[in-house]
Formats: sequence, structure tokens, C-alpha cells
Amino acid sequence: MLIDIHTHVVNSNFNPKECKTNFVINLFLKKTNYTNYENYITNLISLINNSKLDKAVLVAIENSELCANNEQVFEICKKYSEFLYGVNLSPFDKDIDLKVQNAYKNGAVLVKILPSFQNVNLSDKQCIPFFELLKEYNLPLLVHTGKEYTLKTNSQNLNNPDLLENAAKIGVKIICAHCGTRIFLHEKNYFKNWAKLAIKYENVYGDLSAMITPVQIFDLKKILKSHELKSKVIFGSDYPSFPFDLSVKTTNNPIIDSYNFYEKIGFDDTMFKNAEKVLNL
Ligand SMILES: [Zn+2]
Repeated sequence: MLIDIHTHVVNSNFNPKECKTNFVINLFLKKTNYTNYENYITNLISLINNSKLDKAVLVAIENSELCANNEQVFEICKKYSEFLYGVNLSPFDKDIDLKVQNAYKNGAVLVKILPSFQNVNLSDKQCIPFFELLKEYNLPLLVHTGKEYTLKTNSQNLNNPDLLENAAKIGVKIICAHCGTRIFLHEKNYFKNWAKLAIKYENVYGDLSAMITPVQIFDLKKILKSHELKSKVIFGSDYPSFPFDLSVKTTNNPIIDSYNFYEKIGFDDTMFKNAEKVLNL
């Protein structure tokens, strides 16, 4: 089964006129021909069906005016077989054991955390019971790593892969979104931190989502040169994100453009096989 491990959907109440958006968000929405919630979902389904992919993980984000929350994503996943449920939780949520249990019962295939947006330091010892729960339910953890561009942030340092050492030691399957990379040259790059963790721990992976700018090509080439790192990456588009590489002829389908880009530079089927393995599909 071919999977896109990382896609997003707008909140059903999203109103571009009222919600504060930045140039990145505006660019993405323009590209999706966004008119309303329903049309966003139907467009995304046809993009998946027109690609070689079978399914995409829809990642929920709680407390965001822009992104769909757990309840909305769960409803979409119940209705359309193209989607798999990516639940957003925090180790500091009230009744977290019940929430993890419910997410599992509701068919969640992974748990997403955006440390800088949720203001969570994953190296905090208080997160350990949460990691033990994820291990018990065999739920992988997808963590945003590297700079956050679209959602309000507390400290960007919270997105450092080094903070995942405890979770890695416990044996949680961890997917570091964007492999810790940055989009602009002057920004802090956490790629080396990710690479170190992915080499040290068998259960640590990285997703290739939104690694599509000219700055990230340096890090992508480092992955391709290392057999160990190349075996640890997973395909993701971070839809509505799309490749900025002008050398890839656009198909006007950002999902196809994304995997065409990775395949063109040398990534192979491992990026799809890893998704099946990590998500227990
Ligand atoms: Zn994302």
C-alpha cells in the first residue's frame, strides 16, 4: 500500500477573511483553489485518486483556526476510505490515558505533536507515562521538527529532535517531520540532530514532507549519500504544501509533484515501504 504520511485539511470553520494568515498559508490556499471545506476535501480526494497513492494520513491540529481538529478529521476519515486518522494529543492533556485509548479505538494510525505550537517540551520527565502509553498501544509519534512556519510558535527550540531522546529510549516509533530541516539559510537547522537520533535508534524515522525548497536539497543529498539515513525516511507531502523546485515539471497535483521530485533526486520505494511498516498496515 502506498501512503502519504502527512497531509492537512482546513478547519470546517475556517474563514480566510477572519483568520490571520501569512504569505505561506496564502500561497498554499491559492494553489489548492480553496473555496470551502467540502471543496477542499473533494479536491484532495481526487488528487490522491489521480496519483499512485492508495491513502493519505490526515493530521489533525487541536486549537487552530486554520487546521481541522481531531473530531473533524475523525469524521472525514469515517466517511472517506482514502484517509487515515492522525490524532493530535499533548502529553499534558487531562485524562491522557483515556484519550490515547480512544484514539486507538477510533483507528488513529499515529499521534501528532507540534511542540512549539502546543508549548510542549518532550524531554520533560512528565512526558514519560505518555510515551509508555504510545508504546503499549503501538501508536507511532509524528513530531514536527525544525522551524515552524504556519502556526503561532512559542519557542522554536522545542522543535529540536534532541528532545526526543527519552521517547526513543522507551521504544516509541518516532517520525520526525521534515527531518529537522529549515526553509531559509539564515535559520537554525536541526538536520544533524535528527540524523544522529535516526542513526542511534532503530525506531526513529524522518518524513520527507515539505522538504521541497532549494535550501533543503543539501540535506536531502546528505540522506541519499548515507545508506543508514536513506533507509529511515518516509514519504509525506505536507499537502497543501508543494515543491518549489522549478526543474520538476508540474502536473498541477502537488502530491504527484512531491513524489516525482523525491524519485527524481534518487529516493526509492523504501520511503513508501517504511510508512506501511511504521503504521502497522
Ligand atoms: Zn505538516
